[in-house]
Amino acid sequence: MKGVGTKAIDVRWSLSLRRFAALVVWVCASAAPAFDPGCAMAQAPDHRLRVLMLFSNDSLLPANQLVSNSIKTSLEAGAPGRLEYFTEYLDMVRFPEAEQEARLVGFIREKYARTRFDTVFALGSQALDFAIKYQATLSWDAPVIYAGVREESLRAMKLPSNAGGIASRFDALTTLELALRLLPDTQHIAVVTGASNFDRAWEDVAHDKFKAYEKRLNLIYLSAMPMQDLLRELAHLPQHSVVIYLSVLEDGAGAQFYGTDSAGQVAAAANAPVFAVYDTLLGVGIVGGYMNTFEDMGEAAAKIALRVLAGERPDAASSRVLQTAYFVVDWRQLRRWGLSEANLPAGTTARFKDPSLWDLYRGQIIALIAVLLVQSLLIMGLLIQDRKRRRAVLEAKKGRDEVTHLARVAILGELSGALAHELNQPLTAILSNAQAAQRLLAKTPVDLDEVREILSDIGDDDKRAGEVINRLHALMKKGEANLRPLDLNGLAKDVLELARSELIERNVAVTTRFTPGLPDIRGDLVQLQQVLLNLIMNACEAMVGNADADRSFEISTARDGNGRQQLVVVDRGPGVSPELINRIFEPFMTTKTHGLGLGLSICRSIVTAHGGQLRVVNNPDRGASFIVSLPIHAGGQA
Ligand code: ADP
Repeated sequence: MKGVGTKAIDVRWSLSLRRFAALVVWVCASAAPAFDPGCAMAQAPDHRLRVLMLFSNDSLLPANQLVSNSIKTSLEAGAPGRLEYFTEYLDMVRFPEAEQEARLVGFIREKYARTRFDTVFALGSQALDFAIKYQATLSWDAPVIYAGVREESLRAMKLPSNAGGIASRFDALTTLELALRLLPDTQHIAVVTGASNFDRAWEDVAHDKFKAYEKRLNLIYLSAMPMQDLLRELAHLPQHSVVIYLSVLEDGAGAQFYGTDSAGQVAAAANAPVFAVYDTLLGVGIVGGYMNTFEDMGEAAAKIALRVLAGERPDAASSRVLQTAYFVVDWRQLRRWGLSEANLPAGTTARFKDPSLWDLYRGQIIALIAVLLVQSLLIMGLLIQDRKRRRAVLEAKKGRDEVTHLARVAILGELSGALAHELNQPLTAILSNAQAAQRLLAKTPVDLDEVREILSDIGDDDKRAGEVINRLHALMKKGEANLRPLDLNGLAKDVLELARSELIERNVAVTTRFTPGLPDIRGDLVQLQQVLLNLIMNACEAMVGNADADRSFEISTARDGNGRQQLVVVDRGPGVSPELINRIFEPFMTTKTHGLGLGLSICRSIVTAHGGQLRVVNNPDRGASFIVSLPIHAGGQA
């Protein structure tokens, strides 16, 4: 079977009940003698539909296999009974002689004398010709369904009313246009055809269809040549050539070929891209063409057969519909000739395309993208959370700094009375020294040595007042923590200096036990001064109820066993009550009428921020000890 065509209509329909009833009646009426002639719906499982497939060519032609398989598949999907298949390969393309035809008729009549067919498929124009010519001789009353018959051949035939099917149009012209689209610089077209009647019919088609291009292009007809000569010719085509292979079933030397063989040899030898009209040739080396698929052809024919089985007239069921054709290319050949996919008409099917990574791992890729997406969302969420957290931490720190500063100012407020006194002392001394100096200057002779001494005292007093003011100023200041190496002993002395007049006023004695030669700690001077000042003030307040002589505390510095330094304030107050001792550092924990309960909590957060610890223990005899441990400055000696 060879020959065929293009545009088709999709003949999909469903078997209506009415049609199904008609089919049952038809099957009963046309059943073979082996059938029970009085069959009814109840006997449906026994119904057999006998289908004969009559092919023009021999059985090895790939197209025959494709069509017969497709017919079977489609029939089985829609037929109401069991199907029995019979096949005859007439091989009339190679053996067209009248004697052979007569022998075939005799053989088939004998062979099927007792078999009655329900449908005869005629596949190819010779098979159709044979079926309608001999249907009476062969006592075939079954409808004849044809496919694989070129539109032009059909037009030349006179079909009886029990014949119907699908016409094919293998479109050489649209195939040529595809070639020109892919190779716009083409100047020469080599048209390849063989020597069989079938091949020569193709040559006629080419002469007819390509006429429009004769002026524009150089058409080289390579027809009925011995294969060797043909291949030699094809190997030396001029530049900008394209080969259109139509059919070589027989060469000029009488050698017979299947289309796949001759097209394969042509494609291997030619120095230009080869295009063809049969989709069975894709894969042997041709670039592509405008093609029907043989699967489509089989499916369309089977659907017409089913409609006829259901009661439609064969000629009405078909009305010579044409098959749909497609642009089909071999992707490997596009690459071989450097042809751009962009020039292909829309909807072109590219076969033999290497599957892309996407085709191979679509599932995995989608899963990966989903995982990445979820991960990115999670990361984004975490980043947003983190930013919020940082902002909250910053704000909390700001708030804490504010409170710390306010607490410091509050303490200084408590000290202010004593500090005023502290400042008054040097100022009064300066005043009286200045008056004394004036008096000395009024005397003659002036005792200059005395005046010098007085002026030096004034200077010292002024320095003292300045220091008090500086210390106060530092503590009043608000600012960022400034970590630097600090001498703990010096720090404690400074604070005691600041609190000196307050301690005198409160009648509180201090003893110090500073361990000399301690390495520096690392800390913020103002904040640590605030801690110590707080502890000193608390100690004073704890001892308010003591007799005057009993008001004293001790400040000591030392190394602790863990490579840190300790600063301990030991008082002689009542100690911390058991119910308070575990909560004393919590904010707003106070036993004082006007207390805020913030001092110790601030002290602890300052010390903790320095990497240290603040804890309290009650002394064995009386009072409490507040112990500050601070890490040594990295550059200092432990
Ligand atoms: P405030 O002094 O405003 O009450 P603090 O946080 O400084 O806030 O102190 C909290 C509480 O801890 C005090 O009210 C007091 O009961 C107790 N306390 C602090 N220092 C001592 C001490 N040296 N001896 C006994 N109790 C103390």
